[in-house]
Amino acid sequence: MRIAMIGTGYVGLVSGACFADFGHSVCCVDKDASKIERLNRGEMPIYEPGLAALVESNVNAGRLTFAVDGAQAIRDAEVVFIAVGTPTRRGEGHADLSYVYAAAEEIAGLIEGFTVVVTKSTVPVGTGDEIDAIISKARPDAEFAVVSNPEFLREGAAIEDFKRPDRVVIGTDDERARTVMAELYRPLSLNEFPVVYTARRTSELIKYAGNAFLAMKITFINEMADLCEKVGADVQQVARGIGLDGRIGGKFLHAGPGYGGSCFPKDTIALVRTAQQYGAPVRLIETTVEVNDARKKAMAQRIIDAIGGAGRGKTVALLGLTFKPNTDDMRDSPSLEIVPALIAAGVTVQAHDPEGMDEAKKLMPDILYRDSAYDAVVGADAVVILTEWDEYRALDMDRVKLLVESAVLIDLRNVYKAEDMRRRGFTYSSIGRPDAPA
Ligand code: NAD
Repeated sequence: MRIAMIGTGYVGLVSGACFADFGHSVCCVDKDASKIERLNRGEMPIYEPGLAALVESNVNAGRLTFAVDGAQAIRDAEVVFIAVGTPTRRGEGHADLSYVYAAAEEIAGLIEGFTVVVTKSTVPVGTGDEIDAIISKARPDAEFAVVSNPEFLREGAAIEDFKRPDRVVIGTDDERARTVMAELYRPLSLNEFPVVYTARRTSELIKYAGNAFLAMKITFINEMADLCEKVGADVQQVARGIGLDGRIGGKFLHAGPGYGGSCFPKDTIALVRTAQQYGAPVRLIETTVEVNDARKKAMAQRIIDAIGGAGRGKTVALLGLTFKPNTDDMRDSPSLEIVPALIAAGVTVQAHDPEGMDEAKKLMPDILYRDSAYDAVVGADAVVILTEWDEYRALDMDRVKLLVESAVLIDLRNVYKAEDMRRRGFTYSSIGRPDAPA
């Protein structure tokens, strides 16, 4: 099938490359000309494991192309995806749908023949109706159907998630569109990955309900971690003890510095706003948002406390700046809360991140960026593990100890063992686990 993908970001590029790999013919469109130039030179605009090879092989096979001007691709397409950003609208929390609606206007002017317009962007309930209205108004003659097909991939494991999904959700009441979508995803249904067909509004809500539930699960274990610290229990054992219960499940029970990233923060707050708007407030999610915001702030204080309660004249080494490993995405990373608070307290921040530093430099120019974890810890009064990149899991801690000013390790991802660190002479603290006895 011929696909036009409007928006070539984390979702558009991965989905486009995977659909091409299924054998479809895909044109990924983006108004960001520098992104398209890079892709046409064979460079990846984002860091995502396995993506460069997947893109290269599908470009070479002639199934994947890139364009700034999507006009021809949209005219030719049987399926046009909208995969543009839906960030938080400044100052209030609703999703900003201006990119989605602009894409819909553009599509309206171009489609020829029966075209399925698919929203892959995460959009509030009712957005599909609005897109439908935009296209109908601009082109009363057009033959089209608007389908919701939310994306559930995780950055860092995006290709695997796209090709081996827990499920695909398709929201439409249009029989013709359903047949087209079934054909598009046939490689997955053939392999017996579940495809769930729903009405469009239900599909739109499934995406928010899923993310809100996961954000709540993380926040739940984070609060248990705080309680563990007070009562001398171990949150990792609590997580295992409850996670083995099939009704609960072990995933998303890792205590840490609070959730971040390009989806959970904006999607939870957008769901809260939608629910308020419709008079059915989701109080659990309102609380989740509040608790998580407070947690990120508390992490900065935890670090300041560990260096003696005052920041001036102190140096802190941060290992990891992205919201999770295996991505360069800095959107809503906990580091964006923690670093400004440390700097405001007078702390000198030295940092390293394997993939996130280019983006971080634009957002946090006051950090002293270092080329390796070992360079970052030189002269530090405390070392903080903020993101659990693999390369921080097995640091040569004897070497670290020789480089730092004070052997203080604040492990916000619980990658080391208290007893081990204590033996090596570190003052060690982690999340929700008892400190090893002195
Ligand atoms: P992104 O910011 O990485 O990419 C969006 C791209 O769309 C940008 O490159 C932008 O230049 C382009 N764009 C905007 N308007 C355009 C237009 N009119 N024509 C052409 N290009 C246009 O965003 P993303 O992370 O890929 O997220 C896209 C959507 O998918 C969001 O709604 C997000 O919530 C959802 N989503 C994201 C993830 C994730 O892990 N990033 C996972 C699931 C769902």
